[in-house]
Amino acid sequence: MAVGGNVPTSTAGTRFRLYAQAPFLEPFHEPETVIVSSPAGSVGPGPADDRMYVVDPIGKPFAYGAAEDLRGSFAYLMPPWTGAVFPPALPDADGHFDHIAPGSPEFEAAHLFGVARFTLDVWEKYFGHPIEWHFAPDLDRLELVIERNLLENAFMGYGFLEVGVHQTADRRIEPFSLNFDVIAHEIGHCIVYAMIGTPDPGTDSPEYYGFHESAADLTALIAALHFDRVIDELLASSRGNLYTRNLANRFAELTDNEQIRLAANPLTLLDFVRGWTDEHDLAQPLTGAVFDMFVDLFHEELVARELISASQEDLSDQLEDDPEYFRVIQPIFDEAYAAAPHAFREALVATRDEMGMMLAETWRRLSPRDLRYSQVGDTLRAVDRMMSGGRWRRIIDVNLRRRAIGFARPGPRIAPPAGDSHFDLARVFVPGNHAQCCGRRRPSFREKYQSVLALP
Ligand SMILES: [Zn+2]
Repeated sequence: MAVGGNVPTSTAGTRFRLYAQAPFLEPFHEPETVIVSSPAGSVGPGPADDRMYVVDPIGKPFAYGAAEDLRGSFAYLMPPWTGAVFPPALPDADGHFDHIAPGSPEFEAAHLFGVARFTLDVWEKYFGHPIEWHFAPDLDRLELVIERNLLENAFMGYGFLEVGVHQTADRRIEPFSLNFDVIAHEIGHCIVYAMIGTPDPGTDSPEYYGFHESAADLTALIAALHFDRVIDELLASSRGNLYTRNLANRFAELTDNEQIRLAANPLTLLDFVRGWTDEHDLAQPLTGAVFDMFVDLFHEELVARELISASQEDLSDQLEDDPEYFRVIQPIFDEAYAAAPHAFREALVATRDEMGMMLAETWRRLSPRDLRYSQVGDTLRAVDRMMSGGRWRRIIDVNLRRRAIGFARPGPRIAPPAGDSHFDLARVFVPGNHAQCCGRRRPSFREKYQSVLALP
């Protein structure tokens, strides 16, 4: 059992069963038991505690967020949901939720809550204190909404996180309430809003929105690496050779983790100097740089722990662009990992925590005003100086340079987002601040239709 996957929670916390990755993926058919920090007995029906609660609404006619009335005026639909709800997930006599059988609606509710709480626990560990919601001035808790009909998406906004369903190519319905990566990514957006903030009108930058998506992906990646099964699968399939250099596609085959696949990408800021259309794409150079730093830190950690030799690591560096790379290098890792799998796991956990701390310390120092990736890089360097006396300076520099961060900037947004740009307003609305949001979500025709019907 993963006790919050190394999250320093007391065993007096509350038990949930979570799918470490989408349950349709081969290694993750069975949920893993975790303990979240909410004390056993403190999580009520819903589930609900003092930070968040789940609602499974009956007849909710449209999603929260931006809508328009009959005259085309902007409206913002906010929680709480006060209508009818399906039966909530109930705790057992000891206050836990791990007794609920997968396949039931209550399991979905418990899973949604468990992932959100687990992810928040992971990042509060790195920040070293509770993360206060950015919507705290108006709402005291995050409403986690299960949308069974409306929404082919998942997104958060001011006081809510709604998850819908996804229809796969072979027409299966996969609820996002059971998708760890998707929920944790949205909690990542909540954390960015809480720790960095929302730009005032006119002070936002393309890189702010790219940073948001990047940080949300990294939030989910680091949180997923708290599951024993994710760590085991990653190490077993790679035997610890996480080098991606120009091998992103090859690496992507190593794992079912969506965030890792996104993180291992070859894009640089030079790919965006003529302009960009989607902040999710613009996020990729920054995510890729941080992921490559993570991989480099891990390999340095393997050398420091004498699990591979410095000369073997040098050889790996020298051959990184060589077609012979895998033939020469992989056997070295196969042998080293087979000899000490537990030590490899400890090295990965230590690297994960170092990266989590560095990111938390970096993020808390950033400002939303005219945010630039070069500032993220400079802040990472400063945090490294503070945390380790500059131990990782070379790794940080190499990976920022490889992504052209610090000497290239993205051009203008080339095309407005598809659809009615009105609906691009403030997915993440802050009262009194109509800053543009960072989402690709558009209301469906049905949602627009229903919101027009419903609003005066
Ligand atoms: Zn996002």
